[in-house]
Amino acid sequence: MKFSRIVKLVIVVVAIIFVVQNPDKVATGKAWVTNQVQQLATLLNTQGGQNTPTSNISSRQSTTSHTDATALNGAIWPKRTLKVYFDVSLNSKPAYATAWQRAFDNWNAAKVLTLTKVDNKNQADIVLTTENRDDTMQAGVAETQFLLNPITGKKSITHVTAKLNEHYLDDYSAVRKMNTAEHELGHALGLDHVSDHASVMQPQGSEYGIQTADINQLKALYQN
Ligand SMILES: [Zn+2]
Repeated sequence: MKFSRIVKLVIVVVAIIFVVQNPDKVATGKAWVTNQVQQLATLLNTQGGQNTPTSNISSRQSTTSHTDATALNGAIWPKRTLKVYFDVSLNSKPAYATAWQRAFDNWNAAKVLTLTKVDNKNQADIVLTTENRDDTMQAGVAETQFLLNPITGKKSITHVTAKLNEHYLDDYSAVRKMNTAEHELGHALGLDHVSDHASVMQPQGSEYGIQTADINQLKALYQN
């Protein structure tokens, strides 16, 4: 037997012993590979030019002709019950707390996913909040984190922070605030933009609330 073959054999045997004795490290290695693939997928998804952190997709609803670069591409939650934390005070910002509450109630009424309120932000799957930014043209955002399974190619959403931008929405009617909240929460549940029919997920404006077509789209995403 050649020396190089013996070396290879020794390496293989050592590797097998390592795997047998360190199953947790193998899991860590798999997680690392998943993470690398996820970051690559995220880079591919965020080519819209927004300056977003790695592993985040930002989807903003525009107040002008700008469309946001949403590309959830079928990313959905791996579960049907989601914990939601309201990070907006009913006392200090009643209009926004109300808009998020209505969006929460209306998506719950669709009976596709079950949304439950939690008091602990750290336990939440989805955080609903506000921001006040004039350095963006957009009235809302859903910052979505997901994991990509490199074997199945399936994307699982792991956390979303959805924000309403007071800078623009302060001038909106209560209905338009609610429509915007429903739009961003729609992204948080896995919905992408729709532009060919009446939909809460139209990329521009806040003209529509949740439509039957939007509920059917959500059902289709979660039918399996
Ligand atoms: Zn959007």
